[in-house]
Amino acid sequence: MTKTTMGALREIQKLDDRIRELEVRVAAFEPQLAEVEEPALVAESELAKAEERLEQMEADARRLERSADDKRARAAKLDDRLSKVSNLREEAAVRSELDLTRKAIEGDEQEALQIIDRIRRTEVAVEEMRTTAEEAREAVEPRQRELLADQAELTDRLALLRGRRDTLLEDVGPSETKVYESFHESGRSVVVASLLEDGACGHCFGLIPLQLQNEIRRGSDMYRCEACGVILTTEPEPSLEDTVGPPVQVDGEAQEESDVPSEANNG
Ligand SMILES: [Zn+2]
Repeated sequence: MTKTTMGALREIQKLDDRIRELEVRVAAFEPQLAEVEEPALVAESELAKAEERLEQMEADARRLERSADDKRARAAKLDDRLSKVSNLREEAAVRSELDLTRKAIEGDEQEALQIIDRIRRTEVAVEEMRTTAEEAREAVEPRQRELLADQAELTDRLALLRGRRDTLLEDVGPSETKVYESFHESGRSVVVASLLEDGACGHCFGLIPLQLQNEIRRGSDMYRCEACGVILTTEPEPSLEDTVGPPVQVDGEAQEESDVPSEANNG
């Protein structure tokens, strides 16, 4: 157990605080990004629904056209049969069926005209919605880019801190690493604490037996407070500013204070 190991553990502990803080800040961008994008998503969803309606109408028009084609073929056949009838009764029967078929064709054609009219009007509406959706998408992009850039800056910093943490862990022995990581994973933020001048634990302030104090001051092994379990050291707390720089500030983060004017004039 060297003093370097303790120094490394102390720095890892500070890094973990900063890492936790950054993880929260990175995640906080997600609802903000969703909110910024919403107007574009709403306009795009309306456009998609209108396009679907248009496709349905076009399918209806095609189906109607096929049906009218079938009836026209049937009418042509009946026409042909009319020239070959052998008696009046047969002629009357064919003529009656031909009349019915022609009426059905007329009905189909009427319906097709109505659908074509609806299609034209829907096409105009779809074009308008497309413009609206494109404008909405363009309008959200600058803010979205800003937020994503800020989020990326924090994510980069997070990667840097995690890299530094990995490097430091290489200098820490397996048993110390195990103790540290099990504490850390259980959600405790204080794993390593100072042995105070008066011989108390820097975390729980319980008094450490004199013999143990001496061992800790020699720094020959890893000693833990019997009361609270933290690893005790006389190694000074390192400054993260020296190794990973100051905390990152970005403009796009949701601020506590709002832009809304004060409501002092209420009532
Ligand atoms: Zn303690």
